[in-house]
Amino acid sequence: MPYKNKEKRAEADKRYRIKNKEKIKERKKRDYKEYYLKNKEKLSERTLKWRAANKERVKTYTQKYRLTHKEIQRANNQRRGSRNGYREIIINLLKERDGIICKLCDKELIFGKEHIDHIMPLCIGGTHAAENVRLLHDKCNLGRDKKYLDIINKKI
Ligand SMILES: [Zn+2]
Repeated sequence: MPYKNKEKRAEADKRYRIKNKEKIKERKKRDYKEYYLKNKEKLSERTLKWRAANKERVKTYTQKYRLTHKEIQRANNQRRGSRNGYREIIINLLKERDGIICKLCDKELIFGKEHIDHIMPLCIGGTHAAENVRLLHDKCNLGRDKKYLDIINKKI
């Protein structure tokens, strides 16, 4: 009787699943990892698209996550604090190297509002190398960021 067989098979399957729970879990993990590595670009594109379409949800989720993981925020603040120290050193070095003129609009930089710009943006493979950084006005740099964001958005 096919029905009985089916039932028997389902039961055997269940027993197998219980007995090999860890093995199955490992296999699923491995399969997903393989899938992820193979489809990395597609997946991140999908994530970006989803994030763009669900901005509010992402925002609420991030806020909620931050509230429930205060220790991460504390660590970030600490890191940012030490980074700000480096930031000043780098800005001073760049001023010594390039002068106090914004490389985009050729006007004098405003003290405290300098932005360290990556000539080739990090998001498209630029590096922190000295020849890839320069000082811009904050406004000039943000304008540049927006231009790249537009390009990226168009690609999606
Ligand atoms: Zn400028």
